[in-house]
Amino acid sequence: MWRITISETCIGSGSCVGVAPEYFDLDDAEGRARPIRADVEPDETVLDAVANCPMEAITVTDLETGATVDA
Ligand code: SF4
Repeated sequence: MWRITISETCIGSGSCVGVAPEYFDLDDAEGRARPIRADVEPDETVLDAVANCPMEAITVTDLETGATVDA
């Protein structure tokens, strides 16, 4: 499993929602994105969102190894 976290550097650009709407949505009150589910099965679409984030705010961690998954 992978864990998706979004840091406070998120500016709410919405790129992640556009790339991977099944994994991210925008919290309008916070003005930031949030993962729809924190823990997900590995999926390249999540890494596409990581690569497209202008703030490098999304981190994906492999829960078995504890390692950050590179986009
Ligand atoms: S792409 Fe990055 S900066 Fe934009 S909403 Fe998603 S996490 Fe935030």
